[in-house]
Amino acid sequence: MHAIGIDIGGTKIAGALVDEFGTILRSERTPTTAGDPRAIEDAVVEMIQKLAVGEDVIAAGVAAAGFIDSAQSTVYYAPNINWRNEPLRATLEERLNLPILIENDANAAGWAEFCFGAGQVYSDMVTLTIGTGVGGAIVSNDRLFRGGFGCGAELGHVRIVPDGLPCGCGAQGCIEQYGSGRALLRIANSLADAGGIGLGLASARARKGKLSGKDVGRLIQDGDPGALAALRQLGDALGQACASLAAVLDPQIFVFGGGVADAGELLLEPIRTAYLENLPARGYHPEAEFAIAQLVNDAGVVGAADLARKHVFPI
Ligand SMILES: [Zn+2]
Repeated sequence: MHAIGIDIGGTKIAGALVDEFGTILRSERTPTTAGDPRAIEDAVVEMIQKLAVGEDVIAAGVAAAGFIDSAQSTVYYAPNINWRNEPLRATLEERLNLPILIENDANAAGWAEFCFGAGQVYSDMVTLTIGTGVGGAIVSNDRLFRGGFGCGAELGHVRIVPDGLPCGCGAQGCIEQYGSGRALLRIANSLADAGGIGLGLASARARKGKLSGKDVGRLIQDGDPGALAALRQLGDALGQACASLAAVLDPQIFVFGGGVADAGELLLEPIRTAYLENLPARGYHPEAEFAIAQLVNDAGVVGAADLARKHVFPI
């Protein structure tokens, strides 16, 4: 029996019919109508109906960025969609006559990685999704960690620098300000301003008017010393954060997803180094593995579907 996974992103809604092994059987996608929550709800309903045609579907999971309540019914706050205390599960179940589960998108992606990707052979995993911001997911003792209010695992907003850079969440010094794609661009621009190893970055910026994530990614692949230094600085911040997270969560593996993780081992190497340098009780604390996510773009839909299936049929 199949489940449906829906991942509502900032620019598109992705959906898939997924079997119990995490294999995508059919998929759909449609652009997101920004700022219109009713249009997004209609698009989700339509997509689930389309994917369910002629299939024996037991449940659907809907993933979105934001805070979901611990009952996984109500979206407290979804920054991109304008949902505020939205009883999404009840609305969708009524319209679709199908069990629905609402999940945070980073949690859904992390769960897919745990079940079908880089985390498969472990019981305790931390995922950091390094996109424009930093998303987090925690699996502890084979279970997805949500916290008492359902709002846990927001690892991008763990403070790593006291009185540090202001963050979109209202706090200061969050991981997101030092370890995200946006942070990589900030570091790259300051290296470009400084000259020296930043000359490659400066000339790319001069050609295009401004640096994009793609430009920096291409320079990293070309071995440009400034772009590599920017990535190393980012990896250093993330590695320090991992050492602190290890003190709390003690995962066997850290998995990195998102666009910046395309840098692969070039990102993992400085992360691993900073993690080891900052690991409490180094030498006596078993060392975690570090890996790049395997499911990439499909993780959200696969994880949402699997969580919905397991909600209906707990193992
Ligand atoms: Zn923050």
